[in-house]
Amino acid sequence: MLINIDCGHGSNTAGKRTPPFPHDVIINNKITIKKGEQLHEHIADVGVAVFLVEELERCGIKTMRTGWNDKDAYNDEDEPLAERQRRIAKAKCDYSISIHFNAFGDGKSFNDVNGLEIYIHDTYFGQSEEMGKKVLEELIQGSKQSNRGLKKQSLAMCNCKAMNVKGAILVELAYMTNKREATELMANEDYWKESAIEIAKGICRFTGIEYVPVKYVPNKSITPKSSKEDIIWVQERLNIVLPDWFPRLVVDGSYGPKTRIAVLIYWDNLGWGRHMNDDGTIIGKATRDKLSQVL
Ligand SMILES: [Zn+2]
Repeated sequence: MLINIDCGHGSNTAGKRTPPFPHDVIINNKITIKKGEQLHEHIADVGVAVFLVEELERCGIKTMRTGWNDKDAYNDEDEPLAERQRRIAKAKCDYSISIHFNAFGDGKSFNDVNGLEIYIHDTYFGQSEEMGKKVLEELIQGSKQSNRGLKKQSLAMCNCKAMNVKGAILVELAYMTNKREATELMANEDYWKESAIEIAKGICRFTGIEYVPVKYVPNKSITPKSSKEDIIWVQERLNIVLPDWFPRLVVDGSYGPKTRIAVLIYWDNLGWGRHMNDDGTIIGKATRDKLSQVL
């Protein structure tokens, strides 16, 4: 299965950007939009696409790219639509997903229009309707947004005939001309990731491919003060690796004496001998790495 991930426009396409931001927004450690600056649509399109590729590939789906080539969203030409279509057809893609953010009005100031919608072609839509429905059902979960529905329009990146694909959707994730959606969703890496996960889940349901969630591994030391989630993560794995004679831990997210002793026994079994100078209440990186291989 090969799916094309298309990103709208190019890094500096005229228009295709938010009105000036009302305050600073830090997207991640690479991108900050200062008060008065405008976020270009393509930057957010690529932000979502990077996560989407990761999601689909983890599920065993191969991907290709039009309108972008890598994580650097700042150096992309606006690839002509006919060229995008030609490359997709040539690569014999099964489906195509185009990522966009919507706009309404003159683009100089924010307005009330908001929400997410998905476009499919009005004539050459193949299986796009079912594909779009499934993706939309997932996208309306998570961050609260109004659902503007599935719409038909003769858009180049939806034309299944020209791209020789079985289905193609164009996703308008939010309005860059709406202040809330621009500053809280479009300029938000968590939203990019959430959208990518939701699109991938929709595609998996549509194609019948099993969605494989990302494998969670706690990224800091686990102690009795850690989150319930992290302590449960440890307890579930310790129950698998502990010797038969040790009573199974109650998986309750509470790091009590039994969990502490279980950690010491685990270390002893590994021959790490750390229990000589440790009390079993700090689970560091080496132990987490080891335990992450268990499940
Ligand atoms: Zn767009």
